[in-house]
Amino acid sequence: MIKHLGLNTDFSKKELKAAFGQELEFDKDLFQYSSYKTGGKTRLFILAKTVDKLTHVVQTANNLEIPVFIIGGGTNLLISDNGFNGLIIKVNIKGIKLKSETIIECYAGESLMGLVNFATENSLTGIEFAGGIWGTVGGAIFGNAGAYGGEMKDIIIELTLIDRKGIMKTVTPDYCGFDYRDSNLKRTGDIIISALFQLKKGNKQEIKKRVEEILKIRKEKHPLEGNSAGCFFKNIPDPKEKFGKLSAGKLLEEIGAKGLSVGGAKVYEKHANMIVNTGNATSKDIRQLADILKEKVYQKFGIKLEEEVIQVGEF
Ligand SMILES: Cc1cc2nc3c(=O)[nH]c(=O)nc-3n(C[C@H](O)[C@H](O)[C@H](O)COP(=O)(O)OP(=O)(O)OC[C@H]3O[C@@H](n4cnc5c(N)ncnc54)[C@H](O)[C@@H]3O)c2cc1C
Repeated sequence: MIKHLGLNTDFSKKELKAAFGQELEFDKDLFQYSSYKTGGKTRLFILAKTVDKLTHVVQTANNLEIPVFIIGGGTNLLISDNGFNGLIIKVNIKGIKLKSETIIECYAGESLMGLVNFATENSLTGIEFAGGIWGTVGGAIFGNAGAYGGEMKDIIIELTLIDRKGIMKTVTPDYCGFDYRDSNLKRTGDIIISALFQLKKGNKQEIKKRVEEILKIRKEKHPLEGNSAGCFFKNIPDPKEKFGKLSAGKLLEEIGAKGLSVGGAKVYEKHANMIVNTGNATSKDIRQLADILKEKVYQKFGIKLEEEVIQVGEF
């Protein structure tokens, strides 16, 4: 856990800008950085477009003991209506290239779909599973995003990270302890800068076809307009089940989740494990609906659902 020390209010805006740089923004609305389109303001905000900027900002926040939360595309987040009492850094470092015939180097701020498209263009197979997953490459690595039988951990061979003191290191995937929608990065607080992906040479038309098939399935099942954060709860490890996981969506269907709502938050009709913002939801509505779903599943099955969506700020 990263210790949240609280923002020292004795700093003036001028002092903070001098320390972090002129790009530092104050009291910034966060709803625009969340696919849920909910959430309050952050005291401080910086868009980090370069490795040097990110390193400097992280080091400065560490020296000033200012709590930091990193965001990528904001597609797996539930941001408190009370906002965040610290510094939000949006990692926006771009760059993608072939490192060798079958290895892609990609920076954390690239969109995951951009990486899928780059692989397709270069006839590289192995990342088609990620077609249509929202967000950035950094966010996908952090949570070991996956779908349709694939996960980020299957293709990562090396990562460049910085720790919360701003010290850079290059690590192998072992360091990250990847697991189902999990990595040790959730505990260490390391920030992803870039990664190397090992793919295989394939047939471009076949790769394209597979990505299109996946996009089609997603189109039928998922709320395309966004306003969700994907599956709200993780599936439950169960060796007896196909793929070793009991579907949280299945349990939610059985408790009659589809169509349940609190305020502007509603369970999506086509997918019981997705809570959508129908337009005027607050994060509190979404949280309350999630709590009702958790309680109902616990009452019926004795199973405690665990959130896949990550909360930011106090609830
Ligand atoms: C319609 C829809 C469908 C989805 N389908 C899937 C799916 O099939 N499979 C799946 O796994 N997910 C799915 N998601 C969830 C989400 O898209 C993924 O989890 C995605 O990888 C999150 O990336 P992000 O950049 O948006 O991360 P964010 O939401 O911005 O952040 C998520 C976490 O990653 C951390 N993080 C982000 N960038 C970095 C970085 N550079 N360094 C360190 N930490 C970082 C943040 O601190 C936060 O804790 C879906 C979402 C939507 C809206």
